Amino acid sequence: MNEIERESMEVDVLFVGAGPASLASAIHLMNEIENHNKAAEAAGRQLIEPPTILVLEKSAEIGDHMLSGACMNPKAISELVPDFQEQGFPTEYICNYAGFWIFHPKGKIKLPVPPNFRKKGYHVVSLNKVAKWMGERAEAAGVEIYPGFAGDKLLIEGNRVVGVRMGDMGVDKDGKPKGTFQPGMDIFAKVTVLGEGVRGSLAERLIDDFDLRGQNPPTYETGVKEIWRIDPKKHKPGRVVHGMQFPEILNGFHGMWLYDMQDNLVSYGFVTLLENENPNCDPHLEAQKFKTTPFMRDLLDGAELVKYGAKCIPTGGLYSQPKLYHDGVLLIGDAASMCNAQNLSGIHMAIKTGMLAAETLVDALDKQDFSAKTLGGYTERFRKSWAYNEHYQARNFAPSVQKGMLFFGLNEPARMITGGRGMMDNMSIDAGHTHMKRLEELPAKERKKEEFDFDNKLTFSKEHMVGFSGTAHEADQPSHLVVADLDLCSTTCAEEYGNPCESFCPAAVYEMVDDTENPGRKKLFIHHENCVHCKTCDIADPYQIITWTPPQGGEGPNYDGM
Ligand SMILES: Cc1cc2nc3c(=O)[nH]c(=O)nc-3n(C[C@H](O)[C@H](O)[C@H](O)COP(=O)(O)OP(=O)(O)OC[C@H]3O[C@@H](n4cnc5c(N)ncnc54)[C@H](O)[C@@H]3O)c2cc1C
Ligand code: SF4
Repeated sequence: MNEIERESMEVDVLFVGAGPASLASAIHLMNEIENHNKAAEAAGRQLIEPPTILVLEKSAEIGDHMLSGACMNPKAISELVPDFQEQGFPTEYICNYAGFWIFHPKGKIKLPVPPNFRKKGYHVVSLNKVAKWMGERAEAAGVEIYPGFAGDKLLIEGNRVVGVRMGDMGVDKDGKPKGTFQPGMDIFAKVTVLGEGVRGSLAERLIDDFDLRGQNPPTYETGVKEIWRIDPKKHKPGRVVHGMQFPEILNGFHGMWLYDMQDNLVSYGFVTLLENENPNCDPHLEAQKFKTTPFMRDLLDGAELVKYGAKCIPTGGLYSQPKLYHDGVLLIGDAASMCNAQNLSGIHMAIKTGMLAAETLVDALDKQDFSAKTLGGYTERFRKSWAYNEHYQARNFAPSVQKGMLFFGLNEPARMITGGRGMMDNMSIDAGHTHMKRLEELPAKERKKEEFDFDNKLTFSKEHMVGFSGTAHEADQPSHLVVADLDLCSTTCAEEYGNPCESFCPAAVYEMVDDTENPGRKKLFIHHENCVHCKTCDIADPYQIITWTPPQGGEGPNYDGM
């Protein structure tokens, strides 16, 4: 398959991923070039030729792979499009009540809202709709967007990124071309901007191959989201609730959100840290169990499930951030660990870092220099921006969380009064998967996967829920979930960890089935058609042998309205 003749095209700037980071960057780039050229014309300086800008997006339509809460800080969008509300920005409601509740088996307690969850004035949005709105603006400004095309490999010449190869279409499960085979095109770009979101597959290769890792490893949590249509009497426009559960809180920092949306819909989500000791930890199950608390049971009584999905959130923050540039390439948004996990807020950081990257691209286009020397201006801009100040303030959140409840309880007040420093600064953290304990290290009662009876009204199995994610993948193609050593799954992993992939995947992709060729043994079966592209397996697998790669362009979930 390597000898295939491929078509190629050349552009000036190539964005990978049509999320808020890339779309904001593309829009701002066009605006900034116009501003630059007006000033250059007045001063008699050379103008920048209008660049060719292309955005690749793996989902079939812009926004289809967008999953977020989402309660958005409007700071960045109002810098990008100052009259965004007049221009029909798809706000569901503006937050007029921000609550922080502790849920317990008998009810709930309203606590004083911690500073990171004071969200009055924030916009509750569907990121799917926001991406569509931003995509329209980018196209109107002259940006080309190719939905349905995944960036498969970085094209490298010497030490420099020169573009991206798109994924092949029409390959059968044995890797052979089918009648529908279309080789992926090579797109050569003066500069490639990776806005792939969390655990970007190209970004990860770039960071590893060019040694761009930050001082701490990245850490993550998995967010499971459901949209429900509820009784209009229970619907409260502008309500934004975050909360945790007691006594579960004693075992880890998992938490929930609830945001009301238009048409009597509510966005409910449950977030599970991916640094658990127990290999049986199951983000989907945690989300189901939380719905059995009295408040949620009452809220969802008689309600209709509309949508389901899951996606990881990068939590490491500033100290997990990779170097943001290399020759010919920039990293923006979640792919660059820009999410402020302390506030569960990444959209404004993605938009802002996209804008800062765009301003650097204007310099690069002006000088026709796309080397690290000029692209490094992005880091300088970032360091002088409010986005850096915000990230700096939250820099010790992830380490504080990882050190456990006692340390967190003592360190949080200290962090609040020391501008985010806390009792110590620059704390190291470990990658979440290293926290997983072998079954023999756990108390006997924790070794078994938890049994839970789904009632099919309020709580549902993974297999049922996947149907509400709109996910579709052609079955006859190589699995995009590449497991480097299947034998290890049947032997060492089965014995040591009891195959945690069956638990941590929120879409029932991994299943240990009887191995008919080796009686008494099980082997891994991968239902890749179910995958909702959350990236949990790539992150949480204790042996780090699962690699998430993009499937054929246009496949995956359909997060319409998410
Ligand atoms: C469960 C959850 C809840 C959240 N809640 C909130 C919230 O309430 N408020 C808030 O502000 N933030 C929230 N966030 C964070 C916020 O959604 C992200 O920080 C933000 O979306 C990051 O934007 P991005 O453009 O960097 O990446 P994304 O929004 O992830 O966009 C990346 C895009 O790139 C595409 N892509 C990836 N790889 C490829 C490839 N190889 N080829 C082509 N396309 C590719 C993807 O399909 C996707 O469309 C939440 C996140 C999650 C997961
Ligand atoms: S296979 Fe991996 S990326 Fe796909 S849904 Fe499961 S955990 Fe998420």
